[in-house]
This record gives sequence, structure tokens and C-alpha cells, in this order.
Amino acid sequence: MTRTLTQNEVLGNRLPLIGGEFVEPAVDTFDAINPTTGELLATIPRCGAAEIDRAVAAARAAFPGWSGRPAGERAAMLFKLADWIDANVAQLIHLDAIDIGRTVHELPYDYYLAGGQYRFFASAIAAHDGWNSSSAAGWMVAKREPLGVVGQIIPWNVPAIMVAFKIAPALAAGNTVVLKPDENASLSTLHLCTALAEIFPPGVVNVVPGMGEEAGAALTAHPGVAKLAFTGSAEVGRLIAAAGAERLIPVSLELGGKSPNIVFPDVDDLDLVIANATFGAIFCNGQSCLAGTRLFVHDAVYDEAIPLLKNAFDGVRLGSPLDPATRLGPLVSAKQGEQVLDYISSGKETANLITGGERAEVAGGENGVFIQPTLFETTNDTRIAREEIFGPVLSVIRWRDWDDMIAQANDTAYGLAAGLYTSNLANAMRTADALEAGSVWVNAYVNLNPGAPFGGYKESGLGRENCKETLDMYSTLKTIMLSTQVPPPMM
Ligand code: NAD
Repeated sequence: MTRTLTQNEVLGNRLPLIGGEFVEPAVDTFDAINPTTGELLATIPRCGAAEIDRAVAAARAAFPGWSGRPAGERAAMLFKLADWIDANVAQLIHLDAIDIGRTVHELPYDYYLAGGQYRFFASAIAAHDGWNSSSAAGWMVAKREPLGVVGQIIPWNVPAIMVAFKIAPALAAGNTVVLKPDENASLSTLHLCTALAEIFPPGVVNVVPGMGEEAGAALTAHPGVAKLAFTGSAEVGRLIAAAGAERLIPVSLELGGKSPNIVFPDVDDLDLVIANATFGAIFCNGQSCLAGTRLFVHDAVYDEAIPLLKNAFDGVRLGSPLDPATRLGPLVSAKQGEQVLDYISSGKETANLITGGERAEVAGGENGVFIQPTLFETTNDTRIAREEIFGPVLSVIRWRDWDDMIAQANDTAYGLAAGLYTSNLANAMRTADALEAGSVWVNAYVNLNPGAPFGGYKESGLGRENCKETLDMYSTLKTIMLSTQVPPPMM
């Protein structure tokens, strides 16, 4: 008979991992709150500058041994980590569902992508080498070297994917890591530390939970860090970039988005297009940087599309994230809820509300912020069409002229992703070429297979993740010029 796990067993590890040990810092704690019920799940050590200092020292000490190992040995450990995730996926999914309110319907995909990320970089590192050339006078060798200790800071919306996007390429390339998870989403990452401690040598990966302005700022400013990698808001991204500029170290950034998704009149099946566009806007409880939140619908199908969209939005099932039938759970926190409701109020003043627009009641979720899937008909100049809302809200914009539509689609500070639906290949490629976005998805919004470069134009970031070029961001080149003879004196 299987025994029911205790609450402590469900939560797993909650301590920072520093130098291969689980440490209990003599500092304050912060609370992990269940966003559905308001229940206190756990208190987590609130690390600060002292723990960051310790973690960076441990990562520096581990660097020579780790970078000196054959890449194949590092890869073998990444494969083991992916296997551990597969074996423990049910518990990890449960933790994210209770910690951040993501649905158990979607979370398996997060862990599928995360596992794929470790396996991809474990494989890609074998082919990530420099080059050499020779001439009568000697040889040139350009070799890749890791950078040292990498400081990584991630947001709360997709912790499994964020951890994997950050640590897989960094470790594969031979760096050591200090990772700060988000204060709203630490539980699954801390539980993953059980595997990190088992699989990797001490100090290779250190996980230091805490607040942004404390642990995050201390990591950003630490002189022992050789590179910073950040995913989160553009506001904090600027602070990270400034800190990198101050110390002249490389910085990679994955920031926000306000992505256009474009419906052409020649689509084969408008029902399917609307279903995909609805998913593209409000998956992840609407809290995704790559959501297609501006839907440009061509005039010729607009009047047909609006009732289909309304039906699709009204049909989205809200509920407990633990219920497999739920498609939309609560927002991550009361603060996030307030921000989204504020955007909705602004939309009600400047745009035409088609459906939604209110808080929703969910049995058992009275202390959570559930928001009805909300659809506005608007123009590209309203606040709701310009700013990232991070909630289940979609702005629909009518278009007639291709040039004008492209100008509007690109008229945004961001450039993370874009989507389009058409049955005409030439139209798809011409439109994809014209869009200022790091990823363009044709006929299927959100397609993140490992190996597909992911990152932003403009204020959506710097650098590309999820691809072999990511390994370039986590390494540098050393050129060795070898001459067969010492040249004659030149002066
Ligand atoms: P945020 O920028 O507030 O926080 C992200 C991380 O930065 C957290 O770990 C936080 O503790 C830390 N942080 C906050 N202040 C800091 C400081 N002064 N110094 C150092 N670290 C600090 O972002 P958020 O609200 O948690 O996440 C939402 C944002 O993230 C959205 O804009 C979203 O688009 C973006 N995002 C982008 C991607 C992507 O891949 N491009 C993925 C997910 C989320």
C-alpha cells in the first residue's frame, strides 16, 4: 500500500544549496504562499549578501575542477539531472501548482521542455569547439573556454524552464553557477537541489533563494562573478545591464514582450486559428513573456472572428490549478492581481470590452485572484495594447492594409515573439521577414523545441537561449598562435 506523503515530504528541500551543502543561514525568512488558497506553504531562508558571498566563493573554488573535466563527463551529469526530473516530475508539478498556481494541465510541458534543455546542451557541447588553421609559418588554434562563475537570476512564471534555460548551457560549457530563484517561486527549484547536490560536485551549482533587492542585487554586484544572465522585467534588466557595464562583464537578458499575432483572411480553418490564438494569449494563466497579446485580425474575417473569440474566451475553464480540467488558474500573487485589474480598468475606459473584465469566483479559491479571460477590441495606441499586462487579457485590433499592419505590429518597445496564420507560404515568409521579433511562429503560436534560438529584439533582451549559440554566450575564445621559428629581430 502506498503511504500518503507528509507535508514536509511533499515540499522537499527548502534550504539554500551552497558548496554542496544545505545551509540554514542565520537570517530572516520569507513566505511561500499558495496563490489559490492564501495558505502559508513554507518559510524559506531569506539569503542576503553574506550567503551570496559564500556561494560565489564556493563556485570559484569549484571552477578549476569543473572546467577541467572532459565535456562528456559534464554532459553525463546533465543527462542524469534530466532523468531525475522525469522520475520526480509528479512532485515537481505539484509544487509549482501549489506555489505559483500554474495548472497541472500545462506543467508537464514545462518539465518536458526543461528535461529537453538539459539533454540538448549535454549533446550540443560535444560539437561546441573552436577551430584551427595552419600555414607554412605555423598554426592558429582558437579554443573555447568557459568564463568562470555565472550569476543567474530568474522570474516566477515558469521555474522549471527558467532554471533549465539558465543552468544547462552554463554548466555544459564548463562554468560554475550561482542561481537566485524568484521569491514567488522557490519551492520546485529548492527541491531540484536534492538532485543537484547528488549529481554535481560541491560548489558547481549553488542555489540561493532571497529577495531581488537583497540577494539579487548582491549577486549582480559581486566582483567574483564573470557573467550575469537574467530573465525578468525590463526595469530590473536595465539594472543588471548597468551592473555588467560597471564591471565590463557580459550580460544576457530575456525580458518582457507585447507580441503581435496576426490573422490573415486566407486561413483554412478560422475556428482552429481562434483556438490557437486564445491559447497563445492566456496559457500560463496569462503570465508569459511570449504571450501573443495583440491579435491583429484582418477586416475580411473580423466580424466572423469576434464571436468565435468571445466563445473561446467564455469557454476557458477557471478553477483550482490541481484540477486536471482547469485551463486558467489564479494569478501568482495579490500584487500581480492588482496590476492586472488596474490594466483592465484602463481598458474599460479606452477600449471596447467584449467579454470578461472582472474577478472570478472559484470555490476554494476565495483568497486567490482569479480573473475572467478578458477580451478587448482596441487600437494599437491604448495603454492595454502597449504595456505588458501579464494576465489573461487580449487586445484585438482590426487591420486592412499590410504595410500599416506591419508598422503597428512593430510599433512596440518589445520584440520577443510574433505569430501569424496564413495558408500562403510566400505571404508567411514576407511577413515573418518584416516583423521585428526574435521568434516568429507561423500557424502555431508557441513552438520552443530545443535548438530553436529564443530571445528578443529591442527591449525584449540581449542574446539567445535554447540553442547552440547560447554556448557562445557562456564561453570566450582564446587564440593561440604557434610559430615554428622565432622571427629575426624586427628592430
Ligand atoms: P522581476 O524583474 O521583478 O523579477 C525577476 C527576478 O529579478 C526575480 O528573481 C527578482 O527577485 C529579481 N530582482 C528584482 N529586483 C532585483 C534587483 N534590484 N537586482 C537583482 N535582481 C532583482 O520580474 P517578474 O515580475 O518576476 O517577472 C515578470 C517579468 O519577467 C515580465 O516582464 C516578463 O515578461 C519577464 N519574463 C521574461 C521571460 C523571457 O524569457 N523573455 C520569461 C519569463 C518572464
